[in-house]
Amino acid sequence: METPAFMPVGTLATVKSLTVEDLASVGAQCILCNTYHLHLRPGESLVAAMGGLHRFMGGWPGLILTDSGGFQVFSLAHLREIDESGVTFRAHTDGSLQTFTPESVVQIQEELGSDIMMVLDECPAHTMTWEEASASAARTARWAERAKAAQKGQSLLFGIVQGGMHADLRRQSARELAALDFTGYGIGGLGVGEDKNTLRTMLQASVEELPEDRPRYLMGIGAPDDLLDAVARGVDMFDCVLQTREARNGGLLTRDGRLNVNNSRFRTDPGPIEDNCDCPTCARYSLAYLHHLFRNRELLAYRLATLHNVRWTIRFMEDVRAAIRSGDFEALRSSFIARHRRRAGPA
Ligand SMILES: [Zn+2]
Repeated sequence: METPAFMPVGTLATVKSLTVEDLASVGAQCILCNTYHLHLRPGESLVAAMGGLHRFMGGWPGLILTDSGGFQVFSLAHLREIDESGVTFRAHTDGSLQTFTPESVVQIQEELGSDIMMVLDECPAHTMTWEEASASAARTARWAERAKAAQKGQSLLFGIVQGGMHADLRRQSARELAALDFTGYGIGGLGVGEDKNTLRTMLQASVEELPEDRPRYLMGIGAPDDLLDAVARGVDMFDCVLQTREARNGGLLTRDGRLNVNNSRFRTDPGPIEDNCDCPTCARYSLAYLHHLFRNRELLAYRLATLHNVRWTIRFMEDVRAAIRSGDFEALRSSFIARHRRRAGPA
């Protein structure tokens, strides 16, 4: 994987409305699937019997990163009981009682056939006190050590930095994980309701203590300005549902910010979403047609909008990589932010 890279989200082994050919054609290198969701449906045994995730999906030639499910257990599941051994919860799908341990989550991901696995982490609410966040981060580090010991196959395993909204705990968590010598490091628990300044302070504290020669993965964050800010701080990998979720509501990414194709001003617009976009949607379809599809809730609307948003973000990261190589990253970042601000008007 060439980094910095954006990984489209395919929670249930599908990036909604796209085929694996689509994903390859828009330049996706790695997609993200979710352990919690796939464990509940269809279950790792079935995926393994079908030859693993890549084959099950129809022969995805790229990489697959599987999130551990820690975040989903803490955001979706009900009646959580956390103790040192792991977390017991009721599935949001059918209410069944489930247990995740650091070991079982590695085993599930190995059965799924993941290329990059994430350790089970505890995702504290952003309102947690220092004492609570400290105990939680310490447990996440102990769980990470157990996850590493449970690893059997060839898949890579990443640790996850936590520490809530406390810079000292973030640094400590990063130091403890770095000592365990993971292949790469996720930075978790951010983008969960905190303001941008706090997000950036916590990200900086997390990154500072991580080894420079290992990939850093900022989990769940991917708005264009956040991508640029995080790349500037040394982050290499990103995933975000924004691109696909917004697409399904008619939110389309452009260099001038997000546009809403449902807006009546696009009813008679013969142009593409963005003039210089090289995605399959912009090559052929007008805003007027997309507006029409969304107004009538035609299924093609979701597919065309998703193709654009995913390709737009992947190309954005290709531009970022080229700018880093040529020493022009700061110029790219300031011109992008200036254009974004101009369109948004005074704050
Ligand atoms: Zn496009």
